[in-house]
Amino acid sequence: MEGNNELKPYVIGLDLGGTNSVFGIVDSRGDIKATTAIKTQAYEKVEDYVAASVEAIHVIVDQVGGLDKIKAMGIGAPNGNYYTGTIEFAPNLKWGHTGIVPLADLFSKALGIPVALTNDANAAAIGEMTYGVARGMKNFIMLTLGTGVGSGIVINGQVVYGCDGFAGELGHVIMRRDNGRPCGCGRCGCLEAYCSATGVARTAREFLATRDDASLLREYKPEDITSLEVSIAAGKGDALAKEVYEFTGKMLGEACADFAAFSSPEAFIFFGGLTKAGDLLMEPLVKSYKEHSLTIFRDKPKFLISVLDGSSAAVLGASAVGWDINPD
Ligand SMILES: [Zn+2]
Repeated sequence: MEGNNELKPYVIGLDLGGTNSVFGIVDSRGDIKATTAIKTQAYEKVEDYVAASVEAIHVIVDQVGGLDKIKAMGIGAPNGNYYTGTIEFAPNLKWGHTGIVPLADLFSKALGIPVALTNDANAAAIGEMTYGVARGMKNFIMLTLGTGVGSGIVINGQVVYGCDGFAGELGHVIMRRDNGRPCGCGRCGCLEAYCSATGVARTAREFLATRDDASLLREYKPEDITSLEVSIAAGKGDALAKEVYEFTGKMLGEACADFAAFSSPEAFIFFGGLTKAGDLLMEPLVKSYKEHSLTIFRDKPKFLISVLDGSSAAVLGASAVGWDINPD
């Protein structure tokens, strides 16, 4: 963070989610100076997505003095490859699920600035390590509970990228090998099929279809139920909705017990819409973790919810990737 930062004091951070794409102009202290968003799924082709993004970016860039003030852009995206700047076979993206999209290049050409990209959950982990509850931690696992389930694994202070840039797809560890739910990745029984926002809605529909107890959720058509309806019902004390969170928390705890066996993190950090359920999710999660973990790991990790509001952790993390670029 030196050199031409005085002339170019900002980077653009993009948190590219399955539902929303959030852009922020960030300075070197991590202050978000301006922000905007577009709907990720409104575009069938990546060219249209990039064009709409660039239009939105220009509005916020103008607020800080124009593109001349921007050093680089960092992107956190599902199935983002830090090594190549591509998004590869991202199941939740209309324009990214069938092939390899050179997103960093497309943005770089459209904006005329250097662009770097990493997995969205890795970006969130970097954001959390730099500005959030993971400050000072060298070993932790970030789990993002959104449209899908993402993960960023930090070991000895470094994000684990693996041989190809894709390490840390903990959302796709298989939790149920018999009759597991189909997952967006094409396999069955993945953590993501149960513990994402869409997984929560599926659990609610399953409970409603297989039981006959009363629930506020019966007022909706099953296909209209999303995690939002479940969370509203749970907030009103609905027993079935609360059980949906208990089911979700239990499975997450089970998964974390396995993850602890892999990298012995000092904390699991949860981020994303589902964490708004608070204790409804976290109490069964921690209990289940203790039931399923090896004795040596049982009482060690902390279970924390990100304190960075909204998508700022992901935007800040994405921007941190941008600061790391060293153009010639
Ligand atoms: Zn999967």
